[in-house]
Amino acid sequence: ILNTGHAGVLLVERRGSYPLIDLRILKTSAQQGEVESGTRRKVKRLLSFQRYCHASRLLRGLVPHTPGSLHLLDDDYLGQAAHMLSKVGTWNFDIFLFDRLTNGNSLVTLMCHLFNVYGLIHHFQLDMVKLHRFLGMVQEDYHSQNPYHNAVHAADVTQAMYCYLKEPKLAEQLSPLDVFLGLMAAAAHDVDHPGVNQPFLIKTRHHLASLYQNTSVLESHHWRSTVGMLRESGLLSHLPADISQDMEQQLGSLILATDISRQNEFLLTFREHLDNQDLDLQLASHRHFILQIALKCADVCNPCRVWELSRQWSERVCEEFYRQGDLERKFDLEISPLCNQQADSVPAIQIGFISYIVEPLFEEWHRFTEPSPLSQTMMGHLHKNKARWSRLRYAHTPSETETTSLYKLILQQSLNSNLVCL
Ligand SMILES: [Zn+2]
Repeated sequence: ILNTGHAGVLLVERRGSYPLIDLRILKTSAQQGEVESGTRRKVKRLLSFQRYCHASRLLRGLVPHTPGSLHLLDDDYLGQAAHMLSKVGTWNFDIFLFDRLTNGNSLVTLMCHLFNVYGLIHHFQLDMVKLHRFLGMVQEDYHSQNPYHNAVHAADVTQAMYCYLKEPKLAEQLSPLDVFLGLMAAAAHDVDHPGVNQPFLIKTRHHLASLYQNTSVLESHHWRSTVGMLRESGLLSHLPADISQDMEQQLGSLILATDISRQNEFLLTFREHLDNQDLDLQLASHRHFILQIALKCADVCNPCRVWELSRQWSERVCEEFYRQGDLERKFDLEISPLCNQQADSVPAIQIGFISYIVEPLFEEWHRFTEPSPLSQTMMGHLHKNKARWSRLRYAHTPSETETTSLYKLILQQSLNSNLVCL
């Protein structure tokens, strides 16, 4: 039933984020009696491709593929996709269009291209078959039925990461290993994301929550899944064990940095370095820190994109929040902050997100990269988009105080209590 590609059932079995909800735990007053038989099917349907088609595809303005004619267009599509790749370093790059032109293979196509651009295959003596196998697994293990946390988000973050790696301040200092890890972390940073956040996994007593002791649950899972796929594909198996283990650790450190509840920790350290002007990019540890910051920026850069792209991401992320809210409502759980479609409007959520998460981070990134035309462009979009959401908010029922106070709360929270996991 689930849209899992040709791997079908096997893929569902490999995914660690299944089953999403243990129905034995969630017997609630409204559900009792039908839980064992009927609800299992209903939940499956709720998360299924059908619902994805109805709610999300329409939202995204996509039309279902017509199987008969598609293959005739493939060459033309791929020609256009190849043309787009020649502009992969531009900030206006339309990843949605690229994903359609590559027939849903944006992540694999983009990564192969960037590995070629940087000569990483030659440098690390990578086996092309293994590389394809690894990237294919990563792309497949993203849930295409998630409106936001899917392989297109991963491709988008990878494309942004590439733009940041090209920043003059950074580019000359980076080693092939830095570039390799930066791109790999970007591509895999949300792999097998279940489309719900950490508090949801904790309160439904998901096995991942206890496995990772309620701390950076999703990020830990993204990392360990990546390590599993690296080993399964044998991509790094020709390297000495200590080298490949170090790569796995560094990937973990990068992916774990995307835990938004650790935002303050990173922001304060970054600010301190900039104030003291003591960043030395000759040092591997300092370059690693900047890669962490770059990945964090790439992960939340949606509001820094041109409005037409930015708006689509906003609608998708809110749709994913609302779906979690729908699930919580259905199972008589408390509806999580930002997940109530009636109370939390898209503009209100976006304004909070921009004010408390995105703006503070990109102000420092701007300071670090200065003088950078890209940072200037991003700050321009950021301010314009925020103003646009502000105007739109007054067309909706405002819930400003609730939403912004939530983001304040997130920033005050320490490690083990994150509320939103992007
Ligand atoms: Zn992400």
